[in-house]
Amino acid sequence: MINTVDVETYLRGVVPSEMPAGYPVEALKAQAVAGRGQAFVKAGRHRREGFDLCAGPHCQVYGGATIEDERSDTAVEETRGEVLVWENRVADTLYSSNCGGHTANNEDYWVGQRPEPYLRGAPDFDEAELGLSFPLARGALERFLKYAPAVNCNHPGHARASTIRWWSVTPRGELEETLRREVGEFGELLDVRIMDRGESGIVRDVAVVGSRKLVRVRGGADIRRALGGLNSAFFAVEPVKGEGELPAAFVIWGAGWGHQVGMCQVGAAGLAGKGWGYRRILAKYYQGCEVKRRY
Ligand SMILES: [Zn+2]
Ligand SMILES: [Zn+2]
Repeated sequence: MINTVDVETYLRGVVPSEMPAGYPVEALKAQAVAGRGQAFVKAGRHRREGFDLCAGPHCQVYGGATIEDERSDTAVEETRGEVLVWENRVADTLYSSNCGGHTANNEDYWVGQRPEPYLRGAPDFDEAELGLSFPLARGALERFLKYAPAVNCNHPGHARASTIRWWSVTPRGELEETLRREVGEFGELLDVRIMDRGESGIVRDVAVVGSRKLVRVRGGADIRRALGGLNSAFFAVEPVKGEGELPAAFVIWGAGWGHQVGMCQVGAAGLAGKGWGYRRILAKYYQGCEVKRRY
């Protein structure tokens, strides 16, 4: 089925699908502007199939007229026609659920992408308030990942605690199977070593150390997938000693949910709760962009 709707009507079905309509209205307005930008940038992706945008997360989630809500409708109306612009073109206003406390550079997550000047990783907290400044040394970063400090998206009122900080223990055999499917044969799994992180702390290079071969995986997106669909690429990993030479399991603990590039949706809610308006929220997550009305 294809819905033929104008952009503003489309957004009424996008905003409450991508962000709970109960979020503060300034966060909903930021979502409306970001969503409008995505509509313009992504329109045409499905041209060959006979439509502009699909209704799933590939483009952005569109729940149709039945999901419309008065609060999100207001956010769409009050930002009518507004998009973010970078050097006269509509900015690719990517957003994700929960950055875990620091957003990421687009090229650290998607290897091979051109760095977008407005998609730079930035702290999702007040540096003076927390006394923290990225990049963090290894020990400090691991503490940051383990114990959730008071970052904007550490907001149990707006997110499940398990999306803010999470952890898992995977038996070696299970992780071996997952990795093998993604990267091919490497023998027995001796270690998963983080070789490099972006300044934001996002893992961008991992070595899968096998008994027969060492395999590198690069870029947050591929690393998340290779390790079995991690909640984010903002994590640390440690082998658990087994009885013999081989590790018995691997512990992975991490922060946030999603790709961490662009606006942090829960962080936007946290900032709106502190009294920030949507323009200030957008300026924080998309540095250097301007809000412009297209119509
Ligand atoms: Zn799509
Ligand atoms: Zn965040």
